[in-house]
Amino acid sequence: MVSPELSEPECDPGALTLDDFAVDERTGRVEACPQGHRPLVVETKRQARRG
Ligand SMILES: [Zn+2]
Repeated sequence: MVSPELSEPECDPGALTLDDFAVDERTGRVEACPQGHRPLVVETKRQARRG
């Protein structure tokens, strides 16, 4: 399971999941939270692959 870390001052990131956010399916980037705010930092904890 992916654990997103969302730094978004206007909402409680702990109450939101990545599913709640609008995600660009092409890039996988989070565009906006359900309230339309822009997250400052989005980090998904994935196992980094090298190579
Ligand atoms: Zn928000």
